[in-house]
Amino acid sequence: MDARAELQELIQQAREHLLYFRDLGLTNIGEETTPERMALSAIGSEEQAPAVLAPMVEQNNPEPKILTPPIQPEIIMKKESVPAATSLFLADDAVEPLIVTETLEDIRRDLGDCKRCKLWSTRTNIVFGEGNPNAELMFVGEAPGADEDASGRPFVGRAGQLLTKMIEAIEMKREDVYIANTLKSRPPGNRNPEPDETSACIPFVYRQIATIRPKLIVTLGNPATQGLLETKVGITRIRGTFQEYPRIAGIKVLPTYHPAYLLRSPDKKREAWEDLKKARAFLRGEI
Ligand code: SF4
Repeated sequence: MDARAELQELIQQAREHLLYFRDLGLTNIGEETTPERMALSAIGSEEQAPAVLAPMVEQNNPEPKILTPPIQPEIIMKKESVPAATSLFLADDAVEPLIVTETLEDIRRDLGDCKRCKLWSTRTNIVFGEGNPNAELMFVGEAPGADEDASGRPFVGRAGQLLTKMIEAIEMKREDVYIANTLKSRPPGNRNPEPDETSACIPFVYRQIATIRPKLIVTLGNPATQGLLETKVGITRIRGTFQEYPRIAGIKVLPTYHPAYLLRSPDKKREAWEDLKKARAFLRGEI
């Protein structure tokens, strides 16, 4: 592909990026912002384009690396806060270094054809979660919906498509992150999970987090936020603020709105975008 064709492709990528922002409800990106200007600002100038593009073509790696290397936090877990499902990793002392030996496959195998709560009888598929097992960024929502129940994959319906666009808007790919829910089976009619269902299922997302050890968890909506932070504080008060994940030292939690809520309340997209920018800045080591 020649340099002009590469430039056209870059402009097309920039155009798609702007469309993501539009879908997120962002309308004042700047009157001067056009795909052409975004592409040129990325490469310097049109005259510089061939020189800049050539090494990118040679390396076949047009995606800039944006994440800083992970800083491995000291992992500490309080014994009394650990569910039975994970207690096998702990010594008898109150606080011990957490050594996780299980993999995501081990956790999925243990979940099996789960009947630990009544939701097994109405689900089609268990929705375990998917993504990068070494992700720095993890998204945790509430429970599968109809599309997820049918496919066995998290966040694939309309809300899931918006989540994918939100991830791409912070210059990441869906496969870079890990996506899961606090419940693995769909509540019938998308009703709210009942307390016995949450307490039966949430240990599995705790174990997924302990295995993945992300730097940051973005919780989507009230139930996921309250479940992971073990708080009753509502999402409107706590969103956009960095919290400590109470079960493992060194992991931050950033609550934001659920994409399904954003579809119903598009005026909230700007706040969600501000939250995502904070997540990006944190992962880049800028805050
Ligand atoms: S919601 Fe969780 S605990 Fe309940 S049946 Fe499904 S997988 Fe098992």
